Amino acid sequence: MDIDNGPISGDDLPEQGDKSPAVYKRHPLYYFEDANLFLKAQDSGFIYAVYKGMMAKFSETFEACFTFPQPQGKEEGTIFDNPILLPIDAAAFDVLCSFIFHLGWKSQSNRSTDELLALGRISQFLQCPDALKFAIAGLRFHSYDFNGGKKMFYASTFGVPKWGYSATREILTSVYGVGGCCSEYSIDMKIHKLLLEGESNLVCQIQLLAREIPNLDDDAVWSNCPQKDRCMKALIKGWEVLGPAIGQTRGAIRQVKVLVSMKVESEASFAPMRLKCREVLCTRVGQVVERIEAFVNNAAGERVKACIEQEHPEAYDVED
Ligand SMILES: [Zn+2]
Repeated sequence: MDIDNGPISGDDLPEQGDKSPAVYKRHPLYYFEDANLFLKAQDSGFIYAVYKGMMAKFSETFEACFTFPQPQGKEEGTIFDNPILLPIDAAAFDVLCSFIFHLGWKSQSNRSTDELLALGRISQFLQCPDALKFAIAGLRFHSYDFNGGKKMFYASTFGVPKWGYSATREILTSVYGVGGCCSEYSIDMKIHKLLLEGESNLVCQIQLLAREIPNLDDDAVWSNCPQKDRCMKALIKGWEVLGPAIGQTRGAIRQVKVLVSMKVESEASFAPMRLKCREVLCTRVGQVVERIEAFVNNAAGERVKACIEQEHPEAYDVED
């Protein structure tokens, strides 16, 4: 095969020295005696002896490579002493070989997030759709260390719209906010903008919530309260303190729920209010907060999802 034409080859690969067969060794796992394809990773002296047809079936990149006519006299990849040099590190290629040949095989649940992400990256690089699907499906069980900004980054890298939707929710409900969640990852500019829009919508909604005393008249406990006037006065007075405090909430909107429960319990202005009526107030604020949160998260999540779908016509939808 002609290494200069293949998509997996690089022009900047060292021509001599690195090619000296003296330093080559058989790969301890991925070396088959009847192999017809010899490969070498860029950072290791191990030779992978594998099968042309198999690599072509798994990888569209290999398949494309093998369709180039082989020039006479050039036999790269067909013998041990003259392997095809892959522009890939051995660790990454090992991960892919582990998927293809099932040697040292681990079940999905025994694979770490990093292993699955490594498999996803190399699968994408060498265009191995089955391996990429496997990695994406496996990551579903890794929400403890695959979420927020990291998940958003890979949602647009691998093209998984539903990850974009759920990561939006995770980021917007996080106390760290968009800045805190996404600072480590180079999130797509368009998606970053959508997240910031979602965040400022939440701030807006919090301001509206802070300004208006909740109308509790549709609640039976509140409207039938034997000391309704007293409770109403306490609410008006208490809200003078509570409203501005709500307005200063930064980060996750659900903090508002915690703040309201705390203030209603501790502020002297709320003391004259009957316990049951205080509960009505806290429950109502909680419901409003949840409604706002769900609405904003859903709207921002759908936009992020649509953005990823647009960038990736062959999107992978795996998450429930
Ligand atoms: Zn009352």
